[in-house]
Amino acid sequence: MSRSISKMAVVLVTVLCIIMASTFSASSSTTGNHNVLLENGSVQLGGENRSTGSTATQTVSSGQYFIKNKSSGKYLTYSGVNVAQYSRSNATTMQQQRWNVVYTGNGYYYLEPMNNVGYRLDINNAADYNGTNVGIHPKNGNAAQKYQILSCGNGSYRLVPACSTTRVVEVSGASTDEGANVQIWEYVGQSQQQWIFESASSEPYHAYEWSWVFEEGKYTHITSGYHTTERPDHHGIDLTENPSEDAEDIDGANILSPTSGQVMAIYPNHYSGGHTVVIQTDNYTTDGEPIRVAFLHMKSGSCPFDDEDEEEEEEEEVFVTAGTVVGQVGSTGESSGPHLHLSTFGSPTANWANETNAINPQRFFKYVSFTGDRSIALSYPIEEELQ
Ligand SMILES: [Zn+2]
Repeated sequence: MSRSISKMAVVLVTVLCIIMASTFSASSSTTGNHNVLLENGSVQLGGENRSTGSTATQTVSSGQYFIKNKSSGKYLTYSGVNVAQYSRSNATTMQQQRWNVVYTGNGYYYLEPMNNVGYRLDINNAADYNGTNVGIHPKNGNAAQKYQILSCGNGSYRLVPACSTTRVVEVSGASTDEGANVQIWEYVGQSQQQWIFESASSEPYHAYEWSWVFEEGKYTHITSGYHTTERPDHHGIDLTENPSEDAEDIDGANILSPTSGQVMAIYPNHYSGGHTVVIQTDNYTTDGEPIRVAFLHMKSGSCPFDDEDEEEEEEEEVFVTAGTVVGQVGSTGESSGPHLHLSTFGSPTANWANETNAINPQRFFKYVSFTGDRSIALSYPIEEELQ
C-alpha cells in the first residue's frame, strides 16, 4: 500500500475512531474519603482516623504538597540527603519543600522530593527505635520508604513508617528552630509529631512516572486528541507513527504496559474497540479510584495473555509491570487504519472510559513530548533517570 493511502487511512481514523461510552455501563461506586482542599491550602480529610489494621484505605489524595509541622509551622525540607524543618523563605528553599505524595495501595504512600525525583523520604537503615534519623535515599520500595498517613483530627496527619509502626516522623525535641532535625519517635499525640498537607499541586499524575507505551519513545503523534472541540466524546488519544518520511510504520508495533498492574479484561473483538485489553494499574486517582488503562484496535490475537483454550471458570490472574508487552497495534473494530487508541480512567468496576471517569492519558507521561492534535506543551524536568 502506498504511503499516501496509508496517510489517508490515518486521517480516516481520526474521523471514525469510536466512542465507547455506551457499550459498558460504568457504575461509579465511590470509596468515600473525598478530601477537601481548604482555602488556606491545607487538605481536610473526608474519612476518620484509621487504625493500622486491614481496612487501610487512602487518607490523602496523591499529589504534590508542602508538609508543615503543626507545632513549629516550618516545613519538611530536604537538604543534601538529610531532612530537617525550614521556613518557606525563598524560591530555592521552596523547591526542597515540595513533595510528591503517592498512594501505592493498602494504606501506604511514598513521599518523593519533587525536585529530586528518584529519591524518597527514608528512615535510616529501616531502624525501629526512637531518635532514628529521617533523610532521603534512592528509591528501593522497602519498608523504610513506605508510610501510612493517618489523621490526627483538626486537619493534621501523622506519618507512620512501615518499618516502625508505633513511631512517627517528628521534629526533634519539639524544636521551633530553623534547621531543626527530623527523626522518628514513639507517637504520643504531640503537635511536633503532626503535619499539615498544603497543596503544591500542578499535575499530580506526573508523580506516577509512567513509562511510554511504545519502545524507545516511538509513536507520540496524536491524530485525534482527548475531548477535542470536534470530538468531545473521544475519551482517549489516538496514536500513530510520527509523520515523517522515514518513520517506522506503527502497524504491528508492540504495545507496552506503562506501569504495573493487573489485566482486568481481554476482549478478542469488542464492538467498535476491536481487540481490546484493559489493565488496572497499581495507581489511584486523586479521589482514590484505581486507575485503569485500555488499549483498543489491537491486532487480532496479539495479546499474549489471551488463552482461548481455557474455560472461563479457571481464569488466571495476570500481573504486568512497566514494559510488559500487552499486544500489538492493529486496526480491529471501527478503525480505518493501524493506530492505538489509549484511554485512562478511574474506576473500580468499569472497563470503559466515559464522561465521568475519563482522564487525559497525556497527564501520566511526564517524560513524553507529544506531537499533533491537542498535544500539551508540558515542561518536563531533566532527569538522569530518564530511560
Ligand atoms: Zn480513538
